[in-house]
Amino acid sequence: MQHVVIIGAGMGGLATALRLRHQGFRVTVLEKQPRPGGRSNVITEAGFRVDTGPTILVMKSAFEEMYRAIGEDIDQRLTFTQIDPNYRIYYHDDTHLDLYSNMAELAREVEKIETGSAERLFEFIGAAARKYALGMDFVDRNFNKLTDLANPVAGLRLLQTSAHQNLYRQVRRFFNGNDKLTKAFSFHSMFLGLSPFEALAMYSLITYADVALGMWYPEGGIYAIIEDLLQLANERGVEIRTNSPVDEILIEQGRVVGVRLGSGEQVQADLVISNADLPYTYTHLIKGQHRKHYPDRRLEQMDYACSGYLLYLGIDKRYDHLRHQALYFSEDYKATLDDIFVNKAIPEQPSFHMSIPTVTDPSLAPPAHTLIYLLAPMPNLDNSDVDWEAAAPRLRAQLLDQLECIIDPDIQEHIVWERDYTPLDFQQDYNAVHGTAFGSLSQGFFQSAYFRPHNKAHDINGLYFVGQGTYPGIGMPMVMISSRLVTERVIEEWC
Ligand SMILES: Cc1cc2nc3c(=O)[nH]c(=O)nc-3n(C[C@H](O)[C@H](O)[C@H](O)COP(=O)(O)OP(=O)(O)OC[C@H]3O[C@@H](n4cnc5c(N)ncnc54)[C@H](O)[C@@H]3O)c2cc1C
Repeated sequence: MQHVVIIGAGMGGLATALRLRHQGFRVTVLEKQPRPGGRSNVITEAGFRVDTGPTILVMKSAFEEMYRAIGEDIDQRLTFTQIDPNYRIYYHDDTHLDLYSNMAELAREVEKIETGSAERLFEFIGAAARKYALGMDFVDRNFNKLTDLANPVAGLRLLQTSAHQNLYRQVRRFFNGNDKLTKAFSFHSMFLGLSPFEALAMYSLITYADVALGMWYPEGGIYAIIEDLLQLANERGVEIRTNSPVDEILIEQGRVVGVRLGSGEQVQADLVISNADLPYTYTHLIKGQHRKHYPDRRLEQMDYACSGYLLYLGIDKRYDHLRHQALYFSEDYKATLDDIFVNKAIPEQPSFHMSIPTVTDPSLAPPAHTLIYLLAPMPNLDNSDVDWEAAAPRLRAQLLDQLECIIDPDIQEHIVWERDYTPLDFQQDYNAVHGTAFGSLSQGFFQSAYFRPHNKAHDINGLYFVGQGTYPGIGMPMVMISSRLVTERVIEEWC
């Protein structure tokens, strides 16, 4: 039986392990951390259970496909609730907008912001739907040569949707220059670590996936999915070894022969799949002489996604007026994003994402308590001189000031448990290059589809990649698709 070693037990590593085990491979997963999950992780403390990374699931069909591929039905194993509205958006001037998936409700909401905008909303959704349908052709496939990218008909049709234009400017035109609506329908590119001011209009396909296809919450939180994957792996004989950092991928005569762990132990393998950050894998795990296609210089010149500051709060009070998910947009949104992406500095007025999962699932906290998760996008560590030791307490204070305005003026008196997480933690815990949060390589045109590093190493036989660093890219559904693409490749080449 051929032996596959997977480096990293992130969502992509675990999904690939199960798919390949189902195809009859012997599979060993080696994870550096004590707990699997990677960026999709959890803290369980003081009666609170908080997802530390992703909090909601879009494109549920990608998860359904992964379970079907191994003979399971995700809906028989996990319980999902659709979150609607997807988000409450709080603006700096004390107004808010609920971003519903229900189109009639959404139309009513946008009309409250500007009379007559419902019609423009439907035009925008229609255009985003076309981008989604055409864009999936570039998401859902392996690439071998440049011509694989050039499906001329799909490419032409995509151009007709003006997908190559600037995202923020295009959304602004749809909404007649209305600032609040433009923010509400363009921020989604941030989930790929990309500023809407720099992203391609193509990425309004994420807005479509969120708003029109719906947003789902699994009972127990996102980590319930990781736990279920681990249970399946255990039942099916996938070996998962935690506290097992890989130090080197062993290569002989251009072919992978195994890995060497930090402990010095060598594990033989017929093929190795790295779920660790792709640029990290190349620079830290493969000696320079084996990777002429990816020298350090090329990896250094790539564009890296943004990071984030996270604050998790346990509160001894319930707030029945809150939504499960919310966003706060600071007044000078452009300055905030320029600080993150251009100046590589901490924004003066951070915008943030807030998740309050106890609204849907009170079991995540002690009775009559609330769990609050705050994520403020931040610059990554590349060319940034932010001193995180000093910055974290300041950011904490700023975020709590905002919570006093939008949730409860006395909220600070009710904090009974808290933790925070900075870009330095991403770097240290997950070997995230430059401490990026959502994924390592940003998703501009020249780092997407064919142009994103491929899931098969160019000059090393038997080495593959899965997860956010390769195509299709960042985010859990993309990582699920990535696990299918690499599995298809391995089966084609090894079975
Ligand atoms: C705060 C935050 C919020 C997010 N929100 C969402 C969301 O709401 N929806 C969504 O879809 N996505 C979201 N994402 C993105 C999503 O979590 C990631 O894109 C996805 O989980 C990445 O999975 P992955 O399998 O590619 O790898 P990772 O999660 O990066 O896992 C890689 C694993 O490799 C391990 N590893 C690294 N080096 C070694 C080594 N040398 N030896 C052994 N193991 C090693 C790491 O420890 C890690 O466990 C969010 C991410 C974050 C951080």
